[in-house]
Amino acid sequence: MTTVTGASLTTAIELLDTAASAGATVVLSGHVQPDADALGSTLALAEGLRRRGARVVATFPAPFVLPESLSWLPGAGALVPSDQIPTAPEVFVSLDASSTGRLGDLAGLLHSAGTSLVVDHHASNPGFGTVRLVDPGAAATVVLVAELLDGLGVAWDDDLATCLYAGLAADTGSFRFGNTAPGTHELAARLLGTGIDHATISQRLFDTAPFGRLPLLSLVAGRACLETEVGAGLVWTWATVAEARDHGLAGDQLEALVDVIRATREADVACVLKGQDDGSWVVSLRSRGATDVSHVAIELGGGGHRQAAGYTSRLDLPGTIAALRGMLATGSSN
Ligand code: AMP
Ligand code: MN
Ligand code: MN
Repeated sequence: MTTVTGASLTTAIELLDTAASAGATVVLSGHVQPDADALGSTLALAEGLRRRGARVVATFPAPFVLPESLSWLPGAGALVPSDQIPTAPEVFVSLDASSTGRLGDLAGLLHSAGTSLVVDHHASNPGFGTVRLVDPGAAATVVLVAELLDGLGVAWDDDLATCLYAGLAADTGSFRFGNTAPGTHELAARLLGTGIDHATISQRLFDTAPFGRLPLLSLVAGRACLETEVGAGLVWTWATVAEARDHGLAGDQLEALVDVIRATREADVACVLKGQDDGSWVVSLRSRGATDVSHVAIELGGGGHRQAAGYTSRLDLPGTIAALRGMLATGSSN
């Protein structure tokens, strides 16, 4: 197994083209608790490779629970649980995973597969896998998948374009975040040109939730704390998966909370601590621009982007927030 560091797009296309032409088995996966970019990338590339002749298995790391907001993505019904996949495929493709840890129970495939291809856009990606297509300049992993599909000569139909658009819209905050560049809009224009129903895609992704989200939001917003003296200002709140259940909601309904909290003008950093059933806290960080929260997340064992990052804490709630305060107070994140 040879390692091709900083492999170009051409190397990745050649690898996939050869595998597909030979009818090889290709396993594809995004990161744990997949979002629209991870799943959209996985499903679009899986379908493209299938059309080119590969034996494709699309999966994601355990637990095998798909958020309702993503279960409608074309191809999602064919996703295979991670404990039912071939353990030594010819090729393994990791998509939108910023580190091996984000591949959970599938990390072993990086070594058991004949070749592993890592497709990602996180600046915090340390570099792993045999062939690496990692571009922090890409607004989303689907941008790189779109280039791979072009290179493989796969035409973008409605299903592929829907998966790609979902990832692009999600990771750019509907084209509002700083990662949106002229090329982002050009890609979006090309995707819309296929005739996809972008309004329905966005409604399903961003504007659909059970009624129980409203009382949960009230509870979580009501307990938010503003600490203007910490770093460039910190606003934080917390919620548990158990509380979501109490409101008749799946745990993934906690993901959208940070989008409400991060609007707070007085705080550069917004944080939502999401309590898991095992007692750990999954932490979402957002920055309004002055603070590099990926740096903070990396120091605390996670990763991400400058303005959106995360990590998991095994400390209790006061311990977790104290550690975060400590990191922000050092000023090393600016
Ligand atoms: P989230 O707050 O879960 O929406 O994540 C924000 C960003 O941080 C995304 O780009 C994630 O891929 C990244 N991220 C979240 N949690 C982790 C983690 N534990 N390790 C590495 N990156 C993470
Ligand atoms: Mn992601
Ligand atoms: Mn992404």
